[in-house]
Amino acid sequence: MEGPFDDERIIRRLKGEIERLPGPVKRITVQGPDGILRWLSQLALDIQERIGVEVVVLADPCYGACDLGDLESIELDSDLLLHIGHAPISSESELPVVYEELRYSEFDPSFMEGALPLLGQEIGIISTIQFLDIVPRAMSLLEEAGRTAHLWSDVAGDGTEFDRSAPMSRIWYPGQVLGCNIMAATALADEVDSYLFIGTGRFHPLGVALSTDLPVVTLDPLTGNVGKVDSEPFIRCRYAVIASASECKRFGVLVGLKRGQRRLDGASEITNRLRAEGYEAVALAVRDLSPPRLKAFGFDAYISTLCPRVAIDDSMRYEVPVITAAEVDLLIDIEAPYVFDQLH
Ligand code: SF4
Repeated sequence: MEGPFDDERIIRRLKGEIERLPGPVKRITVQGPDGILRWLSQLALDIQERIGVEVVVLADPCYGACDLGDLESIELDSDLLLHIGHAPISSESELPVVYEELRYSEFDPSFMEGALPLLGQEIGIISTIQFLDIVPRAMSLLEEAGRTAHLWSDVAGDGTEFDRSAPMSRIWYPGQVLGCNIMAATALADEVDSYLFIGTGRFHPLGVALSTDLPVVTLDPLTGNVGKVDSEPFIRCRYAVIASASECKRFGVLVGLKRGQRRLDGASEITNRLRAEGYEAVALAVRDLSPPRLKAFGFDAYISTLCPRVAIDDSMRYEVPVITAAEVDLLIDIEAPYVFDQLH
């Protein structure tokens, strides 16, 4: 195996899928996040040589399965899409898709020693797709230490099972969180006294801390680094952006063209609400957004109904205020509670 994925496994899976499909497969499109793009050329060559089909790599940025390249694949006359790096967030697709998740399963049990003193007795476990294989191990370690580990698995919401046939189920595995959906944590809020987030980055655990008011301990399985989320600096920063936005007159309301980020009804509601409050507001449909592109639109401020990370991660790079859909409540009434934006 070279690079972050296993070519042999992928080729096996593609062959199996091609055998199952009723019609011939002449062309396959391949899609993955920027971090793996440089390995996709070799994979494309391998697939072409070993399966005898043409391959086209979708080389535009892809940040999640919210940006599934099924429609682009059809435009390219492809019969099958290989999507690498993410779990599905929807069962909807215009052509067959093979999802190849990237999982990391190594875990040094001594890493848990740093987290234990920061955790309570009833612990909710959450993780991102890459590290979900570590979750059972972490749960055993917590149980061995006399704690109770909780894992939310009621994705269907009815106490029965995962509903992967739902048009937009978004969460695919027990305990899985996305930057746009932390239901696996919030659904446990009445049962737990703290959370353990196994993963990298601060965005997901920050959302959990803000949405539950419970301590969130982060454990990076790559480095063993342990931390406790402090949401205060984030909140201060967001209130400053919202306060600047409230002084603006002309708003662009951003609507996502990516299927898994499209909140057209929400954007219409926000546009009407802003107008009713005396602001000028126009809806702007976009696929991707960058600070220079935003400048070109020329509005005083923006409401983003795209991925929640768009407004927050690049917040310091925008020259004008950009707030999330959920922050509009605070724009209208600064006394409203802070709500972390999520997609459902
Ligand atoms: S909307 Fe954002 S957080 Fe959600 S899957 Fe897409 S890129 Fe990830």
